[in-house]
Amino acid sequence: MRGCGPRGFEGFAMATTSTETFRCMMCGHEYTEKVEKGEDKERSCPKCRSNSIRHLKKKAGSG
Ligand SMILES: [Zn+2]
Repeated sequence: MRGCGPRGFEGFAMATTSTETFRCMMCGHEYTEKVEKGEDKERSCPKCRSNSIRHLKKKAGSG
């Protein structure tokens, strides 16, 4: 794992996708998932299969 410089992209995405962070309100499990721009589909926790998923913003703000 040496030679090339730092890689920030995970391959080339065709659509405008971004990696967002989600947290399960049931078990508190945090995970990242690729999300399409403007996409708003129902998600479920990969750990406990709960649908109480909260979308975490990248920047921490008041709230
Ligand atoms: Zn969970």
